[in-house]
Amino acid sequence: VAPPRLASTLAPLVLRLRHPLVTARATYAAREGWLLALRDGEGRVGQGEAMPLPEFGTEDRAACGEALAHWAAAAGPVPETPGALGPWLAPLEAAPAARHAAEQAALVLQALRHGLPLARWLAGSAPGARAPRDAVAVNALLAGTTPEALAAEGARAVAEGFSTLKVKVAGRPLAEDVRRLEALRGAVGPSVRLRLDANGGWGVEGAREALAALCAGGGVELCEQPVPAADVPGLAALRGRVPCAVGADEALGAPGAARAVLAAGAADVLVLKPMVLGGLLPALALAAEAARRGLGAFVTSALDGPVARAGGAHLMAVLPTHGEPLAAGLAVGHLFSDEPAHPYHPLRGAVHLPQAAGLGLAPPGAPAR
Ligand SMILES: [Mg+2]
Repeated sequence: VAPPRLASTLAPLVLRLRHPLVTARATYAAREGWLLALRDGEGRVGQGEAMPLPEFGTEDRAACGEALAHWAAAAGPVPETPGALGPWLAPLEAAPAARHAAEQAALVLQALRHGLPLARWLAGSAPGARAPRDAVAVNALLAGTTPEALAAEGARAVAEGFSTLKVKVAGRPLAEDVRRLEALRGAVGPSVRLRLDANGGWGVEGAREALAALCAGGGVELCEQPVPAADVPGLAALRGRVPCAVGADEALGAPGAARAVLAAGAADVLVLKPMVLGGLLPALALAAEAARRGLGAFVTSALDGPVARAGGAHLMAVLPTHGEPLAAGLAVGHLFSDEPAHPYHPLRGAVHLPQAAGLGLAPPGAPAR
């Protein structure tokens, strides 16, 4: 008798961006990855997304597709519990985006078998998960470069109900960033939280000077990645010596780096990208460890598509947190020109989780609404 086999399909996923994404490596007109569907004998389908971002340490798109196809051809049926997924996914250890897709599809299938939304399934079965929140706050991502554009965009986001606004800083003279922040603060008032992201654009001394100036107006909750990814000692040198919390984002991209950041106490907050960390469960384990150490964490997209962002919302709903939960970075659908209708669009600054089993998304191949 032949051993039972995994039933799966793998389809290319292309998401066109409204504006090209410029990175140090390349300019992208679209995000390109894979959608994995796993089926069980009763006709249930679990979906998982792989959206590689090599700039953040994942494999590239071709390697991701090869890894998934290779793994799916040899894998057995989906295990019954989250705790049994580790060995089953071991062949994908070196391909985090592929591992994310396979783990997500398996978790969704498990949740469907139990008739539970993914967050409820995780809360009851995954170590470290807390009781699920019905909604998760999300930050607005502002793109304006001039003070005027940023102020107008910030005012619009606050009117829509966002209470945390994220702004990219660094990569321009400090005086310009100071004027941008002043204009934004003036437009949105003192009660809105501002989140900065330097994407590694400063050195330690530059970050000290910049954050002292940018935080002078108050209300800056944290700065993501003030110094380059590899400079973990630099991050640690800033923590507690700048007027806002220090967030580690790109620093978590290399294998094992997140544990090193935690062990060194190099950040106040971990910025968790499940796509980069190899799945929802590794991200959950890091958040639990961060909370034990009195550190914060929140979930963000790696410019993922709707399936991965839905998984991120369920993860954020059960994420253990130290203190008040931070806003998640999952409100990026507006960056895509072909974003479909789905239940995870933010409403008044929060994503409200559908109570349907699994992800509550249309199955692959269903007609677009
Ligand atoms: Mg970031």
